[in-house]
Amino acid sequence: MLPGQMMNRPLSIPAIIDFAAETFPDTEIVTALPGGGTHRQTYHQTHARVARLAGALVALGVRPGDRVATLAWNTHRHFEIYYATAGIGAVCHTINPRLPPAQIDFIMRHAEDAVLFHDTDLAGLVGQLGHARALGDRVIALDDGYEALLDAAAPLRAWEAMDENAASGLCYTSGTTGDPKGALYSHRSCVLMALMIAAGRVSLCPPGGKFLPVVPMFHVNAWGLPYAAPITGNGLVMPGNRLDGESLFRLMDAEGVYSAWGVPTVWMGLLEAMDRHGRRPAGFEEVVIGGSAASGQMIERFEEGYGVRVHHCWGMTEMSPIGTSGVLEPQEAALDRKARTRLQLSQGRRLFGVEMKTVDETGVAQPADGQHDGELAVRGPTIISGYYRNPEADHSAFDAEGWFRTGDRARIGPRGRLRLVDRIKDLIKSGGEWISSIELEQVAMRHPGVAICAAVGMPHEKWGERPVLVVVPRPGERPDPEAIRAVLAQSLAKWQVPEEIVFRASLPMTATGKVSKLDLRRLLREAAATGP
Ligand code: AMP
Repeated sequence: MLPGQMMNRPLSIPAIIDFAAETFPDTEIVTALPGGGTHRQTYHQTHARVARLAGALVALGVRPGDRVATLAWNTHRHFEIYYATAGIGAVCHTINPRLPPAQIDFIMRHAEDAVLFHDTDLAGLVGQLGHARALGDRVIALDDGYEALLDAAAPLRAWEAMDENAASGLCYTSGTTGDPKGALYSHRSCVLMALMIAAGRVSLCPPGGKFLPVVPMFHVNAWGLPYAAPITGNGLVMPGNRLDGESLFRLMDAEGVYSAWGVPTVWMGLLEAMDRHGRRPAGFEEVVIGGSAASGQMIERFEEGYGVRVHHCWGMTEMSPIGTSGVLEPQEAALDRKARTRLQLSQGRRLFGVEMKTVDETGVAQPADGQHDGELAVRGPTIISGYYRNPEADHSAFDAEGWFRTGDRARIGPRGRLRLVDRIKDLIKSGGEWISSIELEQVAMRHPGVAICAAVGMPHEKWGERPVLVVVPRPGERPDPEAIRAVLAQSLAKWQVPEEIVFRASLPMTATGKVSKLDLRRLLREAAATGP
């Protein structure tokens, strides 16, 4: 090998805030405050505060590699903790406050967190955590005490010199079965993810535009936005803990947010608010939907109803997290409505740096022809090479060639386009044939009276399993099950159409805003046991 003669400067997270403070000093991070109103600070001001917080962390005795936990919403302070921990070589361990306290305690003990920052409305939760009690005065509320800590601190003069492969962040998957597993990100993987977001045009936000991460900073780095926004010179609008449709509408309208990112459930709320106002929030041009499958109804309500472009993406905690981008190429964008929606129901094309393959049960790679499906496996510099301190989980998570097995069933089509069939454990097996719960749900959502729905497989004597469709009607609607079945029968085989359609006022949700099929199956079992 003839070695290249280029400098081997590390890709580092603090370099992002240095860059933003220098080149986009006036661009703002705006945070919605719990009592109403907003807090505003520029990247220049943020840089100074990050240096102070880094100094305070050093004074507290936090050392490189130590885990600093957060139980916090999307705010400028949470952003500061991301960067200050990185600046001293520590690890920002973001924790989902919606998890059961016992699981949070497990996660904190497993991570051996040395410090905990928490938002004040989560103080009650913190009080229930044994590990937090053991931390004593290393539990810091994000209130005036935090501001006093910053005021008293000597700003760190120079960021810790670190290897780009050093750990920077830790996020546990919300284990629906078994204990949560940790994905340990590095400076290199986070910077690459931010560059991949920019290069892969996950967003078409112009320079100076504003991003709204509704996706929480406690869930896979808010899909990389706290790194991608400052790199691209864009502002951030942080919603705090007010994620209902009306609060989001008002914040976006007042701030002129161009691009908002989050899971389908939050967009249901925003769309209801947009319907009430009869318009989109000012400046709102694009919505990035991921985490669960978007429905055609949602895509068309945004695009046809309000002229807001939809980018449907797919990713995972283990992938930093974005794997595919739903931005349409010009010839695709020019398609008629039906063809365009069909394309947008897919999860988009892979980002540069994400390799994908599908394999059958024996591990044989399937053709990427859009026809064959199989378990999706991925490889790349932003994908975990192992779970944090969990060799048992690693055993089944990687194949012999080191690809990460996603647990998703999918088809890869021409042009690197991904179409997710289902989470493998959510597939419904009826009479030996598979039914995709995602497809069933997407088709059922074409009935205008269906607000949201979920399909699960329930045990059946003759067929092994039969699909049951659980529907939450749109406000004021009472859809007829026969009419829903008629919509399903237009696109699905007869045997795929569920006999049983159940109506409920809401669906059980996981801590990350997805429908919890585990809880739904349990609720259906309980209902069957107690009878009508
Ligand atoms: P998490 O690690 O909690 O972000 O969950 C990752 C999982 O969410 C993936 O493995 C998929 O099963 C699911 N997922 C993410 N994005 C999508 C999408 N656009 N459509 C369908 N499922 C998705």
